[in-house]
Amino acid sequence: MSELALRHIDTLAPDELPAYVYDLSELRKHAAAVRAALPQRVELYYAAKANPEAPVLAALRDAVDGYEVSSGGELAHVRAAVPGAPLAFGGPGKTSAEIAAAVAAGVHRWHVESVHELRRLAAAATRPVDVLLRVNLPVGDGTLDSVALAMGGRPTPFGLDPAEVPECLRLLGTPEFARLRLRGIHAHLASGLAASEQLAVATGIVEWSAALAESHGLALEEVNVGGGMAVDYEDPSARFDWTAFGEGLAELLDAHPGLTLRIEPGRALTAYCGWYATEVLDVKRSHGEDFAVVRGGTHHLRTPATRGHSQPFTVRPVDAWPHPWPRPATTEPTVTVSGQLCTPKDVLAHRSPVDTLRGGDRLAFAMAGAYAWNISHHDFLMHPRPTFHHLDGPAS
Ligand SMILES: *Cc1c(COP(=O)(O)O)cnc(C)c1O
Repeated sequence: MSELALRHIDTLAPDELPAYVYDLSELRKHAAAVRAALPQRVELYYAAKANPEAPVLAALRDAVDGYEVSSGGELAHVRAAVPGAPLAFGGPGKTSAEIAAAVAAGVHRWHVESVHELRRLAAAATRPVDVLLRVNLPVGDGTLDSVALAMGGRPTPFGLDPAEVPECLRLLGTPEFARLRLRGIHAHLASGLAASEQLAVATGIVEWSAALAESHGLALEEVNVGGGMAVDYEDPSARFDWTAFGEGLAELLDAHPGLTLRIEPGRALTAYCGWYATEVLDVKRSHGEDFAVVRGGTHHLRTPATRGHSQPFTVRPVDAWPHPWPRPATTEPTVTVSGQLCTPKDVLAHRSPVDTLRGGDRLAFAMAGAYAWNISHHDFLMHPRPTFHHLDGPAS
């Protein structure tokens, strides 16, 4: 728990709630620890879609080698927020305008998602472009079957089917494609993998890529094994094991001397640095269960509704009670925390344990730094937007 963030939440005026509060010093510390756990030959990119807020991107700048962007909008935004930082440009469904903008921007790496895209890129490339082929690989020995957000190892719209890769290699050898320089392979196959699962998947991707390079007489320069490092919302203290992952990648690199690896996590970098703070507007009992209704809801923090978890929270008791009538309070050891939306899906936490929760108390929802505000349906029901606070503690 960030003391800096919690103290700030206590000082906010009621009309500043709900509030997104970020501890950027905590983020810097975490990202530096992730970087330190990785071997030198692993480049760390941040997947901007997890949280593209400019202060967040800037706070990561010292720890990351670059940023992964997946649209023309992210490309323009990240370039402005962290000028000069290397960018990897991916995403299915790139428009002609996006292709032109990314060529003009001179992105560091281009993740090609289809044969048609490769042809369009070659036609649009007015300058050299360094490309990785994004391939939907069947690796991981069943690891990918059980994860929530699988983007590969099964039929999906992401990347190239392995059967299409030889045609890409053939095209890349022709004069019309001379401006495209093949640097290697990219695969982002799933989100939510623990370190041992990530290592199994990374090993599978590298071995497939090495076999491809050998069979086509190419040097294997680079493999990007994607993001998707697990974040456990049920247990905020159970962090992805970056040390074990780094050690495993070091062994993988030992077996492939000329290779540079790249990873591009989003959630596991920024989830922990953000809090969504609000106040309890009402407490009621319904058919034997306690409900606390808070200011705001899943239109600001959609993550628990889409993933089906309870967002972890801390109660910040507020002793002042301005009304002459009794304060509504929970009577049970658990409470369901819902928001202001007129839908039963607007639940932030389901039957979560509390000592007591009263009208007027504040709640600080943790792990709200990734896929939180920016994936939420802000305008549904037209409630006011939260306020935003990017805190930076004293340099340590
Ligand atoms: C979303 C995404 C990531 C980041 O995934 P996380 O689960 O946030 O780590 C990385 N690469 C690609 C191609 C993605 O689509």
